[in-house]
Amino acid sequence: MSAGIELDRYSRQMRFPGIGEAGQHRLLESRVTLCGCGALGTVLANALVRGGVGHLRLIDRDFIETNNLQRQVLFDEHDVAENLPKAEAASRKLAAINSSVHVEPVVTDIDRTNILELVSDADLILDGTDNFEIRYLINDAAVKLGKPWVYGGCIGSHGQTMTILPGETPCLRCVFEAAPAPGEAGTCETAGVLSPIVNIVASYQATEAFKILTGRREQINRELIYIDVWENVHRKIKIAPLLGKVDCPCCKRRHFEWLDGAHGAHTTSLCGRNAVQVAHRSASRLNFDGLARQLETLGTVTYNRFMLKFQVDSYDFTLFPDGRAIIKGTSDVDKARTLYAKYVGH
Ligand SMILES: [Zn+2]
Repeated sequence: MSAGIELDRYSRQMRFPGIGEAGQHRLLESRVTLCGCGALGTVLANALVRGGVGHLRLIDRDFIETNNLQRQVLFDEHDVAENLPKAEAASRKLAAINSSVHVEPVVTDIDRTNILELVSDADLILDGTDNFEIRYLINDAAVKLGKPWVYGGCIGSHGQTMTILPGETPCLRCVFEAAPAPGEAGTCETAGVLSPIVNIVASYQATEAFKILTGRREQINRELIYIDVWENVHRKIKIAPLLGKVDCPCCKRRHFEWLDGAHGAHTTSLCGRNAVQVAHRSASRLNFDGLARQLETLGTVTYNRFMLKFQVDSYDFTLFPDGRAIIKGTSDVDKARTLYAKYVGH
């Protein structure tokens, strides 16, 4: 394909003065790491690949389930039947949409041992996860390496996004110093999620990606945007004054506690028991009353002051107030982390 024909597919985007031909060339030369290829991630990947980023690394640890199809726009029933990992199925679909973009699927669980490598060559990191632990890891890695990243999160009918330019805007920990305790924020499994809010938040994130990658820094969103599509709320929360004012452990003191392992989950397979222990290091204690209310529609819950037991499918959870869990029914550490994130949070 000649350069002219190749560029023609982006003609409507280049005609927009904010991008122009020069911006398009910058996009074509850019590299993005997208963490998570679920609801937000598929919308983001779709926008970026159609828009012509040069290289997209797509990371996800999960397989596709039928209940993903309501909101995860790159997948279909055929992908479920084929039992494909999300990163692989998305990459096949994206290759059919725009074969000139280099899409690199990575099927892995992002953790503190691999994140720096996964983002080190990226011009931009995008958050397409539904997982607080990974967001704080992204924040640590981005601040440490001085790379921009765009946070996005959705649950129920509401969602929020902010853009982090290390040294220039507050980081995630300046705004939310600690992750909510496991079970506190709910998950898509327990609270549900509407597809329109996913599309809106991911579309804001994708637009921020275009601004950053084309060098239009003056256009970047420097506030926390919060939207609730059911309650008809659209709010912009000023966060710029926080920069340098809060004693941020990450961007001010440069203590990368999530990267260093002082925070986060430590997961071990319990030998010979077909069970895995997920030990979450969380500052606050689990609220069993709230968690039980969220889980009782999905499975059987019993609890007292000392532990909460939850049975769903063939799995048996025993949760302790400090956030630790023993999950029976699997000896696969990655599976256990996925189950914990799905039902308890993070
Ligand atoms: Zn900070």
